[in-house]
Amino acid sequence: MVLQPELIPLRPHHLVCLQYFVGNGYSTGFTANTTRVLTYLKQHPTLACIQIVQGADTLCQSCPNMHTQCETAQQHDQGYLQALHLTIGQQLSFQEAIERFQRYVNDTVFHTICGTCPWYDLCSSLRQKRTLDILDT
Ligand code: SF4
Repeated sequence: MVLQPELIPLRPHHLVCLQYFVGNGYSTGFTANTTRVLTYLKQHPTLACIQIVQGADTLCQSCPNMHTQCETAQQHDQGYLQALHLTIGQQLSFQEAIERFQRYVNDTVFHTICGTCPWYDLCSSLRQKRTLDILDT
């Protein structure tokens, strides 16, 4: 029997957040869930198991702020939906997500879209240090 891959709903800007995730987050449950998702994606980089969704996704399910209005997150989604040339409902692999991130998210795009995020300083410093593909780290 062939097992179906787990289909992971992700909002657009979380494709970028995952590139810089190093274990920080809004709660212990949030970081544990994000670690689980990222581990799965790194173990199955070529499976088309990511589905782009609008609004709350797999990572948001464990966020303590999920039921508040995340207007900044929505702005980040809109920015990265366009910057990464994605459409809602599209399925892609983690490898494709990494390639789009590397191709389209230059410093100007990153600073423009992520500049209002509370995690910006951390991600920005990781961006300056990181020279390897996330699959190599
Ligand atoms: S700055 Fe915020 S939105 Fe941008 S990658 Fe980091 S955590 Fe995600």
